[in-house]
Amino acid sequence: MVSEIIKLLWGLQQVDNEIDYLTKKANEIPEKIKGLNLHLEQETKNLEQNRANVINYKKEYKLAEVDLKTCEEKIAQYQVQLYSAKTNEQYKAFLKEIENQKKLKNEIEDKMIELLEKIENTEREIKRKEKEIEIIKEDTQKKIEELKKEEEKIREEIKKREEKRKELISSLPVNYYEIYEKIKKRRNGIAVAKIENEVCGICFNPIPPQTVIEIRKNENIYYCDYCGRILVVIE
Ligand SMILES: [Zn+2]
Repeated sequence: MVSEIIKLLWGLQQVDNEIDYLTKKANEIPEKIKGLNLHLEQETKNLEQNRANVINYKKEYKLAEVDLKTCEEKIAQYQVQLYSAKTNEQYKAFLKEIENQKKLKNEIEDKMIELLEKIENTEREIKRKEKEIEIIKEDTQKKIEELKKEEEKIREEIKKREEKRKELISSLPVNYYEIYEKIKKRRNGIAVAKIENEVCGICFNPIPPQTVIEIRKNENIYYCDYCGRILVVIE
C-alpha cells in the first residue's frame, strides 16, 4: 500500500536525520576533549617558561655580581694609581677611568635591581599559575569525564535509532529502499520532503495544487520536479 510505503519512507528519513544529528554531536566530543587538553598543556608550558625565566634571571644576577665586584676592584685600583700619577695627563687618564668604571657600576646596579624585580614578579606569577593550573586540571578532568559519558550516551541513542532503521527497512519494499538511498546520496542526506503551504519543504519550490491532491490520494509516489525528492503530505 502506497500510504504505508510513504509512512515508512517518512519514518526512515526522520530516523536518518536523527542519526546524522547525533553522529555529528558525538564526533564533536573528541575535538572538545582535545581543546580542553590543549588549554591545560598551554598553561603548563607557560608555567615552565616562567620557571626557566627565573633560573635565567638568577644566573644573570650572579654574573652581574661578579661584574660589580670586578668594577669595584678596578675603581679601587685606579684610586690608588691616581695618587701615584706622575704627570697631569696620567692623573686625568686615571680620573677618566674611574669615572667610566663608576658609570659602569651604576649600570650594573640598575640591572641588578631590575633583575631582582623580575625574579620577584615572576616567582609571584609562578605561585599564582601553580594554583590556577591545579584548578584547571581538576576542571579539565571533570569535563572530560562528563564529555565521555555524554558521548557514550549519544552512541547508545544512535544504536537505538539504527535498530529502528532496520525495522523500517525490513517492512519497506526493496526497490523503494533503493530509491530512497539513491536520492539521499545525491541530495545531501535528505530523500523525503514534506509539502508545506504548497511548496517542497526542502527546496521551497512550489508544488502544483493538483499534485498535492494526487499525493493525498495515496495512489502513487510523487517526486519534487525541482529537487527530485520524494514528496509527502503529513497531516
Ligand atoms: Zn524539492
